[in-house]
Amino acid sequence: MTASDCLFCRIVAGEIPATVVRETPTALAFRDINPQASTHVLVVPKSHHPDVVALAKAEPEALAEVFAVAGEVAEAEGIAEGGYRLLFNTGADAGQTVFHAHLHLLGGEWLGGLVG
Ligand code: 5GP
Repeated sequence: MTASDCLFCRIVAGEIPATVVRETPTALAFRDINPQASTHVLVVPKSHHPDVVALAKAEPEALAEVFAVAGEVAEAEGIAEGGYRLLFNTGADAGQTVFHAHLHLLGGEWLGGLVG
C-alpha cells in the first residue's frame, strides 16, 4: 500500500475532499462519510500505517497525538461532558475496511454498552 492507493493518504494530501474539523502537523480529523452517531469523526495520523498496532510500534508519539486531537474535537463538538467512544477497528474480522490507522470518535447520543 502506498500513498497513491490509500484512501486516507489521499484525503490527507487533499486529493479527495473531506470535511476537516481539526488539523495538526501530524494528524487530521474529518467527518465520517457514513456517520454511525450524531458525531462521528475519524482521526488519522498523516503518515501511513495499516493499523493502530503498526502505528504504535513505529510512531508512538503520533498515536498519542491522534488521541489528543480526538479529545480536542470532542470538546469543540460539545460532547466531552456527556461522554463519547474512541475505537480502532483492527483487521478485517473487526470490520476494518480502510487500512490506514484511524480512530473513530463517536458521540452526541447514548451509545449503549461496550459491545452494544
Ligand atoms: P473502518 O471500518 O475501516 O474502521 O472505518 C472506515 C470508515 O471510513 C467507515 O466508517 C467509513 O464510513 C469511512 N469512510 C470510507 N470512505 C470514506 C471517505 O471517502 N470519506 C470519509 N470521510 N469517510 C470514509
